[in-house]
Amino acid sequence: MPDERASALAGSAAAGGDRPAPMEGHGAYNRGSRVQGASLAPALGLLVEAARAVPLPAAPAPLVIADYGASQGRNSLGPVGAALAELRRRAGPERAVSVIHTDLPGNDFSALFETLDSDPGSYLRDDRRVFPSAVGRSFFGQILPDAGVHLGWSSWAVQWLSRVPGPIPDQVQVAFSRDAGARAAFAAQADADWRAFLSARGRELARGGRLVVLAMATDDRGDFGYGAQVETLYAALAAMQARGEITAAELHRMAIPTYGRTRAEFAAPFAGGPFAGLRLEALDVFHGADRVFADFAADGDARAFGAKWAAFSRASVFPTLAGELGADPARAARFMDALEAEAAARLAQAPGPTVIPLAEMTLVRD
Ligand code: SAH
Repeated sequence: MPDERASALAGSAAAGGDRPAPMEGHGAYNRGSRVQGASLAPALGLLVEAARAVPLPAAPAPLVIADYGASQGRNSLGPVGAALAELRRRAGPERAVSVIHTDLPGNDFSALFETLDSDPGSYLRDDRRVFPSAVGRSFFGQILPDAGVHLGWSSWAVQWLSRVPGPIPDQVQVAFSRDAGARAAFAAQADADWRAFLSARGRELARGGRLVVLAMATDDRGDFGYGAQVETLYAALAAMQARGEITAAELHRMAIPTYGRTRAEFAAPFAGGPFAGLRLEALDVFHGADRVFADFAADGDARAFGAKWAAFSRASVFPTLAGELGADPARAARFMDALEAEAAARLAQAPGPTVIPLAEMTLVRD
C-alpha cells in the first residue's frame, strides 16, 4: 500500500492550476461532511414531491435517477432512498431502477461503491431491483444520453465553478474579497456555469422529468455565510506563510472556485421563460441547520467545535488549496494537516453560530 495520505492527495496535487480538485479521498469527505448531510433535509421534501409527479415510462423500461456531484456517496443515501421509496410505491417492487452517481474524474468512486455496499443506511439494503452505477465526468457538459433521466438530484455541488476565473488578491473565497475585478469575474463565471449545467440537464431529462437542486447560496441580505470559517482559514494561511511553510506566491494563487449565487442569480436564466427546456419551480433561499453549534450548545466542547468545522473545510476545500503547492504529495499532506490543526485551534477559541445560506429548487423538463 502506498502512503494513504500521500496517495489521497495525488489527484488534487496533479489538478493544480485553475480547476477545482475533487473532495479529499479515502472516504474523508464521507467523514467530514456531516454539516452538509444535516442541511439537506429541507430539499428532501422537494425530491419526494418530484418523485410523486414525474411521468413514469411504460414497463419494462427502467426508472432512472441521476445524482449529480455525489462525492463518496454517504450524503446521497438518504435522498436516493427517499426518492426510491416513492417510485416503488408508484411502480411496484419489480421495476428496475437505475441510480447513476456522477462526479469529477478524480473523485474517490471506490469509497462511493464501498458506501453503497456496506453502509447500514444504503438504499441497496432491501431492494434487489435497484442498479447503481457511476459517471466520472464534469456536469458542465452532457454526460448522460438524451431524455433518459426521470429524476435528478444535486446537493452541495453546483456552487463549484468549472474553473478559477482569475486571482483573488486579498482572500481565498471571493465572497470576502474587496477586489471588484475578482468579484465580477467570479459572478460572470457563475452565470456561465449555471447556464451550462442547466443546458446539459435540459438534454438529459426526459419529458416531464424533474431535477431538485440544493446548493450553497448568498442569502437575501447578501451574506455568503461561514464568516468565522473563511476568516480563520485565511488568517491560518497567512500565519503559515509568515512561518515560511508556504510562499507568498503560493498563497496568492490559492483561490476556492466556489460561488454562492443569490436568488436572482439562480433565477436569471429563466427571466424570459423556460431555459433549455427547463422551468424553474419553487426556488427558495434559506439557512441550513447549524449542527456543529447545536452540538456545542449541548456539550460545551470548544475543541470538538473547532475540530468539526476544520474537518468540514478540509474535506471540501483543502485539496483545492493544496493543488497550488506543486507536485509533491508529501508536502501537500503536511500542508493539509498543519492547516487543519491551525484552523481547529483558532475556531475553538470563539465558538459561535454559523450562517449557512442554501438554495433549493425544482427544475421541470416540460
Ligand atoms: N452531494 C454530496 C457531495 C457534495 S460535495 C453532499 O450533498 O454532501 C461536492 C461534489 O461536487 C464534490 O464531490 C465535487 O467533486 C463535485 N463536483 C464539483 N464540480 C463538479 C463538476 N464540474 N462535475 C461533477 N461533479 C462536480
